[in-house]
Amino acid sequence: MSREGLAHAVERMRDRGMGPEAITVFEHYYTQLEDGAQGTIPEDSIEPLRDIQALGEVEVSDDDARRALGQTAVIKLNGGLGTSMGMSGAKSALEVKDGLTFLDIIAQQVLALREQWDVELPLILMNSFRTSAQSLEILAKYPSLPVDGLPLDFLQSAEPKLRADDLSPVDWPRDPELEWCPPGHGDIYVSLVTSGVLEALLERGIRYAFISNSDNLGATCDPDVAAWMVEHELPYVAEVCTRTKSDRKGGHLAVRKSDGRLILRDTAMVAEGEERFFADINRHHTFHANNIWIDLTVLRERMAAHEGVLGLPIIVNRKTVDPADHTSPEVVQLESAMGAAIEVFEGSEALLVPRTRFRPVKTTNDLLVVRSDYFVLDEGHRLVAVGEGPEPFVDLDSAYRLVDGFEKRFPHGVPSMVECTSLRVIGDPVFGRNVRCIGDVLVDGLRRVHDNAVLDGSVLGAAVTGRSGATEPRRERADIRTVDQHLRTILSSMEPGATESVPLTEALGLVVARDIRSRVNLPAFDNSSMDGYAVQAASLEGAEDVPVRLRIVGEVAAGASPSFSVGPGEAARIMTGAPVPPGADAVIAVEDTDGAATGSVECRASVTRGRYVRPQGEDVSEGAVIVAAGDVVGPRTIALLAACGHATVEVHRRPHVVVLSTGAELVPPGEPLGPGQIHDSNSSMLWAAATAAGASAEIRAAVGDTDAELLAVLDEVVAGADVVITSGGVSMGAYDVVKSALAGKGVEFVKVAMQPGKPQGFGHLSGPDGRRVPLFALPGNPVSSFVSFEVFVRPALRRLMRLTPERRRVRTATLTSGLHSFEGRRQYGRAVVSRNSEGALLCTPVAGQGSHFVADLSRANALFVVPEDVVDLVAGELVDVIILDA
Ligand code: AMP
Ligand code: MG
Repeated sequence: MSREGLAHAVERMRDRGMGPEAITVFEHYYTQLEDGAQGTIPEDSIEPLRDIQALGEVEVSDDDARRALGQTAVIKLNGGLGTSMGMSGAKSALEVKDGLTFLDIIAQQVLALREQWDVELPLILMNSFRTSAQSLEILAKYPSLPVDGLPLDFLQSAEPKLRADDLSPVDWPRDPELEWCPPGHGDIYVSLVTSGVLEALLERGIRYAFISNSDNLGATCDPDVAAWMVEHELPYVAEVCTRTKSDRKGGHLAVRKSDGRLILRDTAMVAEGEERFFADINRHHTFHANNIWIDLTVLRERMAAHEGVLGLPIIVNRKTVDPADHTSPEVVQLESAMGAAIEVFEGSEALLVPRTRFRPVKTTNDLLVVRSDYFVLDEGHRLVAVGEGPEPFVDLDSAYRLVDGFEKRFPHGVPSMVECTSLRVIGDPVFGRNVRCIGDVLVDGLRRVHDNAVLDGSVLGAAVTGRSGATEPRRERADIRTVDQHLRTILSSMEPGATESVPLTEALGLVVARDIRSRVNLPAFDNSSMDGYAVQAASLEGAEDVPVRLRIVGEVAAGASPSFSVGPGEAARIMTGAPVPPGADAVIAVEDTDGAATGSVECRASVTRGRYVRPQGEDVSEGAVIVAAGDVVGPRTIALLAACGHATVEVHRRPHVVVLSTGAELVPPGEPLGPGQIHDSNSSMLWAAATAAGASAEIRAAVGDTDAELLAVLDEVVAGADVVITSGGVSMGAYDVVKSALAGKGVEFVKVAMQPGKPQGFGHLSGPDGRRVPLFALPGNPVSSFVSFEVFVRPALRRLMRLTPERRRVRTATLTSGLHSFEGRRQYGRAVVSRNSEGALLCTPVAGQGSHFVADLSRANALFVVPEDVVDLVAGELVDVIILDA
């Protein structure tokens, strides 16, 4: 604390051009702070406020109302920055309702009152140096708003933020504007004088000012209050509302015992240990709405009498110099509350007003309710509740706290809240269009709230993989199948194929049909795991201390069958895998000997019994099950089967797939193209996809677009095929040969609610021996063809082969860009899925999402899946992905 600090601060204010009154007030505050003023109001110094006049009981004639309104100006406290909601500009520039900002609505409220009452009713903003330009730009849309001789705004003064440690003005060269702060809305009295607005208003015959916060849309200039004030010649009126349990914070009015005056006690003014009195809503049953009415002639008088210093109690606000940077230096901001002036005006009154006059938007929870259909703007642009119940309680998770996060998660507007009593959101789902909340709603762990969802009670994340738990009003169209319906039809008709015994080299990837037992022991006999000497362990006791010589009695190579045995003091040379001769019970490694081939061998280590001996049956005993039914044959299974003596294995058959493209324009790759021709890529792709899925496959030469040609080829193909896949010719075109040739002949052509791949054909051809051969008629566009294979054919082939799971695993990844999808169709987009540095999956859709982009298809490594009822996804949202080729 220092005189120097004050002198320094005052100098800065002068340099900035602050008027003498503002400086005097600052000095006054500074001295209070230096004197250790706490600004507390002890409970025993006050009486609760009783018998408050209710606005509803005020009776006013229209003439009185008009006369009073004709002498009134509307002043809005508009210095708020909305930093707590993550905004950087004026808070009142936020779109709050029906696409209008607070300021738009305020302007239109004033214009409507002017028209209704035929009064002048000036509107003036008290801006801070940060909100002025932006706010005036919005008001510029209303050319009739300015009143002759009056400005649309005046600036509240600025004061230096003080270092918390020594109360000197803080330096913050990184952003010098942050060295300054507005001195709270109590500054309005000084600023009205220094700006000349007070004089200008009085000159125009405006005697009263209605002052309220610009974020409180309920604070309209009510003519009844004005008239009541005029009638009773009141110098100052403060609006109060009945407190509910959720209004434990904020200030309240009380009567000061010492002089009987009304005073305002804010949260910051509660004496230590007296919080319970403050919170007691029966004791202090109203709160201060910060809507005040002032007789400007009285104000002028008071200001003159006190040399511009009303002497309001200070509020000491502690922050960091950069509020967004909590590591920046701590500062003290000296502020005062506008409503504290009530004690300065003798004869001031409180007025009990309905709760609707206090509807501030302090948080995005408030924003949701105000934006929702629970409120409408009436013809006077007043905010009117249309919901019948009490205002819904909203509690959104932290992801929605800042406006940016809020807007991103409600890209199509907020849910309907008319029938809602409370909405709690845990997690950070994006809300779709036309969501309705009914009753008490808890949304927990959902990734997304779907379009048209009706949230009724708790909606928990368990249901997230398919749909939200919300009911879905949309009906399926009769001629359209869902992806799941079509797949179910296909899979349920996949008759189990025969099993057959195949050579090991043809079994790779197939499912074993029956348990297989070993025909042998593994190892088949005791054998050595080392090159060395077979010995009796007892012969080498103590050899690590005193080397022992053993007589070499023979040699055993792998594949030999020794006819001798090994006794005490004897050794037989032995190779890895060779049978251990009778009598020997251990092997000493050649490294622990002198390695002699004949005569005797010097051994320098002892061995335990069984050392380096692989006993018979240790791995597999004869007759044991080595491979179970259902196992998939891989390289290691094949090793085991072979080791146990099996040359063949009984498996579920590998289906043979015949691929047949249709289209007169198709030319095989490698051949030159004539006019209008393209290379047939689907045949190769479908062959590869079928092969990769485990089937065997063959490509038939593409056929042109005539029924006869196609039917002839199919007739021939069906004899050798387990599955036929055609591509092309299934849509609505004139030459859609597959459809025209096969419709009604066991193949059904349907529309599936997916994108790409809407036209699909599926059915069965009859083989010569009465076999039913499944036929997939896939669309011709390469991407459609590929996606159709993935979604329908691959699971079907896996079912035929008994491979599980039939469908690929679905994972979730974070979208790196937003996207748009078709309503009512499940979209399978192409994407590159990668991992970020934390290992989380990211999904980046490829540029070309059209169904003819073969290069982008090849670039992709995954499909992302957008559900039928989702139309838009935003960057940062989770999306289902299917990793291909995994
Ligand atoms: P379609 O389904 O027969 O009307 O074919 C749709 C689109 O896919 C057309 O642009 C065809 O040229 C193309 N298309 C059809 N079959 C193939 C194929 N086998 N290879 C590459 N493109 C094809
Ligand atoms: Mg075609």
